[in-house]
Amino acid sequence: MELSACLSASDVSVHAEATMDDALRALRKFYGYETFRLGQATLIQAVLKGRDALGIMPTGAGKSLCYQIPGIVLPGLALVISPLVSLMGDQVRALIDAGVRGAYLNSTLTPGQQRTVMHRAEEGTYKIMYVAPERLSDPLFREFAARIDIPLIAVDEAHCVSQWGQDFRPSYLMIREFIEALPKRPPVIALTATATDNVRDDITGLLGLYAPETVITGYDRPNLRFCVEKLSSKQKRSRIAGYIAEHPGDSGIIYCSTRKAVEELTAWLAGQGISVARYHAGMASEDRRVSQQRFIDDDALVMVATNAFGMGIDKSNVRYVIHYNMPKSIEAYYQEAGRAGRDGEPSECLLLWSDGDVSTCRYFIEEGAGNAELTDEEAERVRAGQRRMLEAMVGYCHTTGCLRRYILKYFGDESDVLRAGEGEGEVPRAVPHEPNAPVGRSCESGLFEHGASPSPSPTGCGNCSNCLGEFDSVDVTVTAQRCVQCVREVNGSFGKTMIADIVRGSKAARLLELGLDHLDSYATVQDSNSQVKEVIELLAAEGLLQVSDGTYPVVGLGPRCAETDAEGFTFTMKRMKTKKPEPRALAGEGGHAFGSAGFSAGDDALFERLRALRKRIADANGIPPYVVFSDKTLRDMCVRRPKDRLEFLQVNGVGETKLARYGETFMEEIAAFEQEV
Ligand code: ADP
Ligand code: ZN
Repeated sequence: MELSACLSASDVSVHAEATMDDALRALRKFYGYETFRLGQATLIQAVLKGRDALGIMPTGAGKSLCYQIPGIVLPGLALVISPLVSLMGDQVRALIDAGVRGAYLNSTLTPGQQRTVMHRAEEGTYKIMYVAPERLSDPLFREFAARIDIPLIAVDEAHCVSQWGQDFRPSYLMIREFIEALPKRPPVIALTATATDNVRDDITGLLGLYAPETVITGYDRPNLRFCVEKLSSKQKRSRIAGYIAEHPGDSGIIYCSTRKAVEELTAWLAGQGISVARYHAGMASEDRRVSQQRFIDDDALVMVATNAFGMGIDKSNVRYVIHYNMPKSIEAYYQEAGRAGRDGEPSECLLLWSDGDVSTCRYFIEEGAGNAELTDEEAERVRAGQRRMLEAMVGYCHTTGCLRRYILKYFGDESDVLRAGEGEGEVPRAVPHEPNAPVGRSCESGLFEHGASPSPSPTGCGNCSNCLGEFDSVDVTVTAQRCVQCVREVNGSFGKTMIADIVRGSKAARLLELGLDHLDSYATVQDSNSQVKEVIELLAAEGLLQVSDGTYPVVGLGPRCAETDAEGFTFTMKRMKTKKPEPRALAGEGGHAFGSAGFSAGDDALFERLRALRKRIADANGIPPYVVFSDKTLRDMCVRRPKDRLEFLQVNGVGETKLARYGETFMEEIAAFEQEV
């Protein structure tokens, strides 16, 4: 008791010169933002007081600021440990462009350059330094770290320390020992976008966090509009070409499940005169690098890629992510779709899927090469898990309820579930989860960005294709009951095609030979063949039926099959309407976009001009366009149309450095535009 009181007292005195006021001043000066977002203030305050902290916040929530701001205001050099070596250059360029002295140390630098960076760091040149975890075992680096004053260590992508997560990095296990070997242990802040309970415990335990101030803001990304459409492969292509044409000037990613699909779709789109880049693990590494760079620099607006693409990019102005095939899990989908709209501007996540996608995923699970190090039993457990995840994904494609709520429920985001209505069928959950801790408990009021965290209304989010009512809901209760009855009668010995044939009263020779036309469920359903199959898939996704493993899957009863006999049981399925969704730009209304309200047609024209100017400046300086200004900043500029330095500083995302660097040029362009119209 006495010891801890004494410890915290001494820590406070060490950093007594840095307060929340300093933090707020730095936020305005270097980033051009007025207020902290929910969670940011809590974490920053804890760190400034010398406490450890743990932030679990979705992509785009602003995790970087939680360590960058303390790094700026505390004396000494803050270390940021990050696994994303390919990202460090861009992260540091963005810092420098904002006027913050940043540096990075990784294997992309020559040994000579590395010595120079460490030498300059010792002279106090930098405030923030990014390092890869492997670096922590390098004796030279450890000596260097022992000599300098380190007021903070940030661990980015902290879930990498856990073997429970997908991205485990053994080198993350060295972090704790490194920190404890320092002459004076600084506060540690760990940040991640995804952490189940197991992973969260691992982060605290394996990094050796001491009673961390914890902020969990949930998984919601209000600026993303989620849409699902069921289409055949042929339809998918023209839908995509149409979509790209409807979004000129916008940057987007199209994910395909195979390299072959990437090649084919790229070729087809190129044939339509669309400029696309492609990316998959089968390409030579130099080709991949060039491709990625063209996309980051907005030279190619559309990227067609497998899931190999995206981990190492930080492009904030990706306006849409289209899935050409259904991914294998909600986790994978949300991670990939979540690359849209990091700047908080309205963006769209469109999932196109077909029955073939489901079969392909099943095939990958059953026939997948797997991991040679696993025993048969372990491999089967892995497959069982994959099957469950796939069912949840299929459920997402079929659900008639709010798509956002489906995802949040899957991740156990209770804050949303509490608000959600009943009677929509269970959503399979990722992992058992405790309700989330309250958010931002100890923040000062008035520090938060307004509207940073709008919440879905009890009736749905109002910003997904289901909530926007772009489909009809069809009652298929009877079909569902007959299918379950049929599965019961045949005792789970047939696949989905045969079940559909039986209930539809097919006269197929094999069916008659087996005497299946004598079953009670025979010829009890009038629906089309494809509709019945879809109902069976949907029943499996909801756990009312289940589809077995193996190359020839058979349909059996699911754990919840008894519910189909219950009084009042209803089952609905959705049918897409042909009506076109409203343009995405309108998504901002209704509280989902930040800062772009009141956008007129004239503003749109100016936006295009400023976007072109941004591209020219970026090319001239060799930096990505989104580093110059985010889309959100450009939009705010179009609405405000600043005429002098003071007005320019009012623009969201403009700090003093950016004003000095780009203010004149942008104001001239705005003035020129206004004279012309
Ligand atoms: P994350 O690392 O959580 O994915 P980032 O740190 O990249 O998110 O931040 C996402 C975007 O939000 C960036 O463009 C960042 O500048 C912006 N941002 C962060 N904090 C604030 C804030 N307090 N006010 C306005 N914008 C912010
Ligand atoms: Zn919704």
